[in-house]
Amino acid sequence: MPRYEFRCRECATTFEVERPMAASSDPADCPHGHADTVKLLSTIALGGRSGAAPRPAMTPAGGGGGCCGGGCCGG
Ligand SMILES: [Zn+2]
Repeated sequence: MPRYEFRCRECATTFEVERPMAASSDPADCPHGHADTVKLLSTIALGGRSGAAPRPAMTPAGGGGGCCGGGCCGG
């Protein structure tokens, strides 16, 4: 079940609520009993987005003395 992050505008408490996506836009009550809350842009872990792709080791960004510096591609 996705998690949504809310923030209470009365006491500035940030809290998380687990709820189905169908109810994602429903208001959530502050754990302190306040009803004036706003939904934050939270990172919802729905799929397997695997952060950073592995960087290829053979491509020097900016050419800091890579292959072209040694003459192997300079013909
Ligand atoms: Zn509150």
